[in-house]
Amino acid sequence: MKLFQIIPLAFLIFSFIFHSCNNKNEAGSNNPKPDYVLVIHGGAGAISPTGLTSDLQQQYRHSLNAALSAGEKVLKSGGSATKAVISSILIMEDDSLFNSARGAVLTKNGHVELDASIMDGQDHNAGAVAGVKHTKNPILAAYKVMANSDHVMLSGKGADRFAVLQGLDSVSQDYFITQRRLLQLKNNIKGTVGAVALDKNGKLAAGTSTGGMSMKKWGRIGDSPVIGAGTWADNRSCAISATGHGEFFIRNVVAHDIHARMLYMNQTLEEASKTVIYDILLEKYNADGGLIGIDHHGNMIMEFNTSGMFRGYTKSTGETEVRIFK
Ligand code: ASP
Repeated sequence: MKLFQIIPLAFLIFSFIFHSCNNKNEAGSNNPKPDYVLVIHGGAGAISPTGLTSDLQQQYRHSLNAALSAGEKVLKSGGSATKAVISSILIMEDDSLFNSARGAVLTKNGHVELDASIMDGQDHNAGAVAGVKHTKNPILAAYKVMANSDHVMLSGKGADRFAVLQGLDSVSQDYFITQRRLLQLKNNIKGTVGAVALDKNGKLAAGTSTGGMSMKKWGRIGDSPVIGAGTWADNRSCAISATGHGEFFIRNVVAHDIHARMLYMNQTLEEASKTVIYDILLEKYNADGGLIGIDHHGNMIMEFNTSGMFRGYTKSTGETEVRIFK
């Protein structure tokens, strides 16, 4: 073979190898990037097969599937990651099984105080509400703060008032409070719902909504509405939604830390998430929790250091799964 034939051939081989390496997902396989990916969670905690009747397990699975379907419908038709995240979270907020909106846990004085946030990975636009007591769907209020205000976070009465002015439904506390939560009042219950999505345009978004931790002090705000702690999205790295002992997630800016590890340390989504969940939260603080994430290549993660996390995912490739236990 002549030199002028070898050079283009060598170039072709090199390009092929380079391209293949760059397309590797975190498991090391060469699966092509999916057109879209959606991952959801319904909270992590001491969830075990013995503590959850098979009937309840069925109900959770059914609800998680419904949330996935709602979000996937948006992504399949070319809708944005932000819209998909909202659609999935709305289903879980309206379902009293989860600790968000209807069915949220109660504060020490028997009220419901809700936190939610959303972030768009394209432009770092973000919105959040904290400690709302009457907004039926806090994730919609968070979106309105992002889309229609100059602010990132509104709290308490001001946030509820803003939601009404934006045309959102307002309800009495009775709507949120369920018999199940009244019976659990003295228990240490947590939980949250969240979703992350990669849309067909390669954009990422993340959202989180919660009633926080049961028996929390009135006015306590957790990580879920704190951008960078419970929620983060950046098209250059990943979209993250967290669940767990919020104080530790705030102190360790968990969601942003994963982004920073990926961006500045070149860690994969899996490496960064595992470091934060096990080496930092569990090892250093004995803090429980988990998170879901998607990177800009479409790799996903559902990682937790508890016995269970309600979770599920769906991809354009047809892969889909809902799981509860480890
Ligand atoms: N992170 C939530 C909070 O601390 C609770 C949870 O996700 O379980 O408010």
